[in-house]
Amino acid sequence: MAVLVTGANGFIAKYIVHDLLNEGYDVIGVVRSQAKADSLAKQFGGNPHLAVEVVHDIAVLGAFDSVFHKHGKNIDIVLHCASPLPSEGDDYEKTHMIPAVNGTIGILEAVKKYAAQTVKHVVITSSVVAVMDPAKRTDSTWILDEKNWCPLRKEDINGDFHVAYMVSKTYAERAAWEFLKNNRGEVKFELTTLLPTYVFGPQLFEEDALGSLNYSNGQVQALICSSPGEELKPDMNAHFVDVRDVAKAHLLAFQKEEAAGKRLILTSCRYTSQDVVNILNEKFPQLKGKISEGPNPGKYDASSVVGEHHKAEEVLGIKYAGLEKSIYDTAAQVLKVELRL
Ligand code: NDP
Repeated sequence: MAVLVTGANGFIAKYIVHDLLNEGYDVIGVVRSQAKADSLAKQFGGNPHLAVEVVHDIAVLGAFDSVFHKHGKNIDIVLHCASPLPSEGDDYEKTHMIPAVNGTIGILEAVKKYAAQTVKHVVITSSVVAVMDPAKRTDSTWILDEKNWCPLRKEDINGDFHVAYMVSKTYAERAAWEFLKNNRGEVKFELTTLLPTYVFGPQLFEEDALGSLNYSNGQVQALICSSPGEELKPDMNAHFVDVRDVAKAHLLAFQKEEAAGKRLILTSCRYTSQDVVNILNEKFPQLKGKISEGPNPGKYDASSVVGEHHKAEEVLGIKYAGLEKSIYDTAAQVLKVELRL
């Protein structure tokens, strides 16, 4: 039996594939092109337990049919990680909404069509944005809580790519729960959705740390590249989780019966960009004096998050890495590949 992982060449998904192989699973990774398939297979050393398949466009309903036609009844777990990350554009319906929503519905339809009796669990990588309400951003009494849903609608996008991302993740996750509700009698699988906050951490393969990093680590990279005296860009006050914990959570989500039917926020703690530059300045002497120190050098804002976020720790038994380790490991890898360490 095998685990199907979509977006298998992504930052988070490579760790998931790595952990699955380590635990003895057969893995079928899905990527968007043959070049990406070849590169992924090569990075994993041609591991015979990893098959990589190409699905060119997950936005097309029926796109996963060929994969399920080939591997169908051999697949018992599906981890759907592929989805567009925030990026600027001029047609968010096309670049974000349709791939996120159709990708989710498409894979569930393929399970129903080809492996309804054999797929036992589907885990979807949603996002904490699917519980967030931007209107409450400054309300200090507002807490992260899996019972909440982001209230934004397509009409709210208005050319804002952050909103486009939030709406795409929210609609996609809702579509998954709706699908299960409407098809309960026809499919066997349990559903778990995971809602990570910003994901930091080193790339699984050092070569991937060359050049621009993935979307979330881009924040850390921007601060490593900042100049002394410069204001912090981005100036974040958000929540984070380490990539290695997010990957672990994807495995535990289907291994632990208690995770079935749950939305689980994955978060370690709240952080600010000031915290990140403090860590960079304190831990990397070669950066001291060469990057921004922020407006309040040495003042730490990182704190544990209040709210219902402990559900994932309770259900999955996960213990999160802290900000210092995650930022240290991310930056150390970047500096190493840039020959600055
Ligand atoms: P990456 O950009 O590294 O990986 C994204 C993956 O999705 C890649 O395999 C990418 O393929 C694929 N993908 C993106 N757009 C499409 C599309 N239109 N059609 C098909 N495949 C697509 O990002 P992450 O690893 O960080 O993200 C993985 C998942 O985690 C996503 O669902 C994201 O929303 C979610 N997430 C990420 C967070 C973070 O902070 N990083 C936080 C919360 C949730 P390709 O390489 O070909 O572009």
